[in-house]
Amino acid sequence: MQQNVRLRLLSNFVIFFMLIAIAWWSVLLFTKNRDAFLAKSELNKIGMVAEGLVQSDRDFFQTEIYQKLEAEYKRQEWMILGESIVFVLSLIVGVYLINRGYNQEIAAAQQRRNFLLSITHELKSPIASIKLVLETFIKRELGAQHINQLSSNALKETDRLNDLVNDLLLAAKVETAYVPYLETIDLKQFLGEIIERLQNKYPAVEFGFRQPEEAIIIQGDKAGLTSVAVNLLENAVKYGAENPKIATVLRQNEKGVINIEVADNGIGIPDKEKNKIFERFYRVGNEDTRRTKGTGLGLYIVNQIVLAHKGMIQVMNNRPRGTIFNISLPANDA
Ligand code: ATP
Ligand code: MG
Repeated sequence: MQQNVRLRLLSNFVIFFMLIAIAWWSVLLFTKNRDAFLAKSELNKIGMVAEGLVQSDRDFFQTEIYQKLEAEYKRQEWMILGESIVFVLSLIVGVYLINRGYNQEIAAAQQRRNFLLSITHELKSPIASIKLVLETFIKRELGAQHINQLSSNALKETDRLNDLVNDLLLAAKVETAYVPYLETIDLKQFLGEIIERLQNKYPAVEFGFRQPEEAIIIQGDKAGLTSVAVNLLENAVKYGAENPKIATVLRQNEKGVINIEVADNGIGIPDKEKNKIFERFYRVGNEDTRRTKGTGLGLYIVNQIVLAHKGMIQVMNNRPRGTIFNISLPANDA
């Protein structure tokens, strides 16, 4: 950090020095230009007076030679002014761009740190609890019921690990080599099943699903779209209120554009964070103070998969509180 401060100070000093130098050079050029003009016109005047062509200063000012000299002098003055302005402007733009890049670099470093902290935690805690269960099995004779309970806990932890590793792999894949494997999907049934599964997983949460009468069929990648829906719904649970209500709406407009909307009544997302949450590893808040678990990969994956389906995802505020994610997918070509 201290090095950063020193670097900033140094660069500010250099910029300051350059500005002063430009100002000084401009003033110098201005005066030299004027001196040159005065000297030239004086020389011409003396010559013309000697030849008897002009009598007074006023006569001389009327001559073509003087007019030309003056015009050139004025032009050069403007040139100097223009060039210094262009120089200063490019300096300012350059400094602004460098500064912006620098700040982005710092933010990216912070994100990587966040990611490393959260991923370490996320990987280590399930491994630690599975290890503990296995150690208990070795050390102690346990009743069947006890064994059952410990085993199902350990299984849950392996699920968590599995999800995490899947997310990591999927994120690496969507970045480089993801091409949706297109199948015909009946969206009503597809979303209905996912919501039912999550309802079983989170009995306390109130899931709603509004769908049109007619079937909505698309060509899409089942694995990818499952990950989209699960990520959005899991987020809605994770960042939900005390008594979470999550409403999913599926609809298709006259033009065939399909909309999938997931609305929650949770903590919401501040406006200035809204366009950042789709970045890889980005999580709102700070790793040291945050209580929810996660890696910040979820919405990155969601966005990439939606884009690969030529769709778009938007995030809005829900009222009175919470967040709405809205996915629109283009009409079927078929
Ligand atoms: P992961 O999904 O990889 O386990 P994550 O949930 O933190 O981790 P994302 O799903 O990418 O990561 O979400 C990024 C951030 O956006 C979250 O950390 C959270 O701060 C915010 N966020 C996402 N969904 C919601 C929501 N429904 N309500 C409020 N905040 C949300
Ligand atoms: Mg998530």
